[in-house]
Amino acid sequence: MSTSILACFKPNSTDARVSKLKKGIKKSESKCPKKDNHKSVYRKRLLHFNGDVTDNFVIDERIVTCIQTIGKLTGMITVNSFPGTCFLQKIRRLKSEAGESTGRAVFTFTTVYHVFGVRDDEVYKLVSEWKELKVKVVLFYETVDDFYNGKRCPRLKDFRLLETDKEEEIQNDWCAIECEVDCGRVCEIDGDEKNMVDTLEAYLEDYKTQQKEIYDLIKNNTISTDNLVVIVGHPHGGPKHVSVGRHYPILKDEPKKVRSSQLWCRYYYDAPTCEGNSGSPVFIPGQPIAGFGFWFGHQHNHKSKVSWDPSDVQDAAKYEIARTVNPDIKFLGMSSIGVEQC
Ligand SMILES: [Zn+2]
Repeated sequence: MSTSILACFKPNSTDARVSKLKKGIKKSESKCPKKDNHKSVYRKRLLHFNGDVTDNFVIDERIVTCIQTIGKLTGMITVNSFPGTCFLQKIRRLKSEAGESTGRAVFTFTTVYHVFGVRDDEVYKLVSEWKELKVKVVLFYETVDDFYNGKRCPRLKDFRLLETDKEEEIQNDWCAIECEVDCGRVCEIDGDEKNMVDTLEAYLEDYKTQQKEIYDLIKNNTISTDNLVVIVGHPHGGPKHVSVGRHYPILKDEPKKVRSSQLWCRYYYDAPTCEGNSGSPVFIPGQPIAGFGFWFGHQHNHKSKVSWDPSDVQDAAKYEIARTVNPDIKFLGMSSIGVEQC
C-alpha cells in the first residue's frame, strides 16, 4: 500500500507544520494595523535585498554587505510561541579552570524586555517567572519551508536572562539573554555542512570589521548615509526581512551622559516595522557604538512604534515634528536606549 499521500496529511509531518506556520503568519498579517507596511518598497526579504530601494534611495554596497552580515547574526525569538527578534552579540567559549576547552560556548543575544512581557493595563510588564517562559531562538530563518529543518534553521533553548543596568526614570527596554551550545554542533549553510560555533564566530568578526570600516568611511565623508536606518527582523514571525528608512536626529532622545564619554540615547525612524520586529537590530551606519564587546557595547534594538493615541501629547508632538521633515510619514518607530561615544 502506498503511504506517500497519507504521509502528506499526517498532522505532525513537516509539510503540515509548514502549512500551519504559513497560515499563522497570514492570520497575524491580516490583523495588523499597519498593512501598508506589508507591500512597502522599504521592506524586503533579506534574500532579495540588494540595496536598490527606489531610484532615489540606493544604499552603498559596503553597507549592503554589512546588512547581510547583520542578517546572519539575527535570530527569531519565540516566547511561548509569540515571535520577536534578537541579535547575536557575543560568543564566549567556556574553558575549565586549567584553561582547557570544555567543548561548550555561550551565546549572548540582545533584544528588548517586552518580548518577555505580559500586557497589563495597556502596559507591557516583564513577567516575574522568567524561567517558566518557553524561550527559543531560531537562526538562519530565511524561508518558511526551512523553518522546521533543524540543520538549516538551528534552534537554541534553555536561555537565561542577563540582568543589565536598569535606571529609574529612564525607559530602558533593552536586555540580553544567553544560552550554552555544544561546540561540535553542525548546521547547513548553502547546502554545506558547517560547524555552527565557528561559522557564527566568523560572522561576528566580519560584522565588527565591516561596522568599523563603514564608521571610518562615513567619518571621512567617503560615503554619506543621509540618516539611513536599517532594521533586520522577523515581522509577524515570517522569514527575515530588511526594513530601511530615515532616522530623525531632531527627535533623538539623549537622557543621560556618563563620564562625558558615553551617551545614552534613543532613535526615532520611519523604517516599516510590524509585530515580530521587537528586538530587531537597528543599524545606523556611522553610529559610534561605545564599548563594543562590553556588556553595554551594542547597537540599538527596535522597541515599538510611537503611539498614535492623540491623547498622548508627547507622542503626538513627535509625529508633528517628524511631519516637518517628512510630511508623508505614517508610522514612527523607536529604538531601545543604547550607548554611544560622545
Ligand atoms: Zn504588519
